[in-house]
Amino acid sequence: MPTGLVYDPAYLEHRTGRHPENAERLRRILEALERDTKLWESLVKISPRPAEDQDITRCHSSRLIDHLHSLCESGESFVDTDTVICPESYGISRLAAGAAVAAVDAVMTGQVDNAFALVRPPGHHATPDTAMGFCLFNNAAIGARYAQARYGVERVAIIDWDVHHGNGTQDIFYSDPSVFYFSTHQYPYYPGTGSLDERGKGKGEGFNLNIPLSAGTQARLHREVFIQGLKIIEEKSPPDLIIISAGFDSGRGDPLGGLMLDDSDFSEMTGQVLDLADKHSVRAVSILEGGYNLSALGETVRNHIQALSHGA
Ligand SMILES: [Zn+2]
Repeated sequence: MPTGLVYDPAYLEHRTGRHPENAERLRRILEALERDTKLWESLVKISPRPAEDQDITRCHSSRLIDHLHSLCESGESFVDTDTVICPESYGISRLAAGAAVAAVDAVMTGQVDNAFALVRPPGHHATPDTAMGFCLFNNAAIGARYAQARYGVERVAIIDWDVHHGNGTQDIFYSDPSVFYFSTHQYPYYPGTGSLDERGKGKGEGFNLNIPLSAGTQARLHREVFIQGLKIIEEKSPPDLIIISAGFDSGRGDPLGGLMLDDSDFSEMTGQVLDLADKHSVRAVSILEGGYNLSALGETVRNHIQALSHGA
């Protein structure tokens, strides 16, 4: 079965000026995908709808929804010093969360084997109450809880290889054993969370796995700890659905990160996630998070999608 590509041109209208998280990122990715005619034609194109309130409030407070709505309506340019918005950003962030929902629908109904959501703004820093770190709503988290609510999926694994720790995703599921959050990230680094001893709490203890890496960690070591993390997920909580928080700012040369992964490393890691999915006969969804090296990003993401599609 094919791989799905969830995308809407509205993502280009989240205008952030000269900010590193800008529309050019998606343009470069689309160019690279379209150049690869064979891959492009093989992808099932899926149009998302905006996430509903009930999808968002499974992860975020109504207060955050209202806050973002009013900031955008009043023409504010910043949520915080890092996070730029324009008047359209509120609707577009709902459409980005909706891409996670659409990707989950596409894999759970069997329309596609797996799916990549090509979205912005990204999501993994958004906590229940706070939009931060370029993120407004937590797309991956919303997808996970939607899969549970809509399809009765019991255990979801969110695998986050962005260079930054996904503090928002960790927060949302910290006491929840039904969603295993696994992150490899540069540490210490923005946003400051992500130490090894943050393991979840209450019933969620042991279902949050951080593997912090120092800047400059060799790709070989990085891949080894990634495999160890996948093994821990498998032992502790074999997933019924896997969501990749696919941040490519952990790639070598990214202006916002100091990790050393190459395209081939991402392909290998993608394959390992798909192997885990296959072994348990479950589906995988991948959602774009960071990645700011414009000269490399298109090809890097094309490689990732190719790896998804070869696994299909
Ligand atoms: Zn990042």
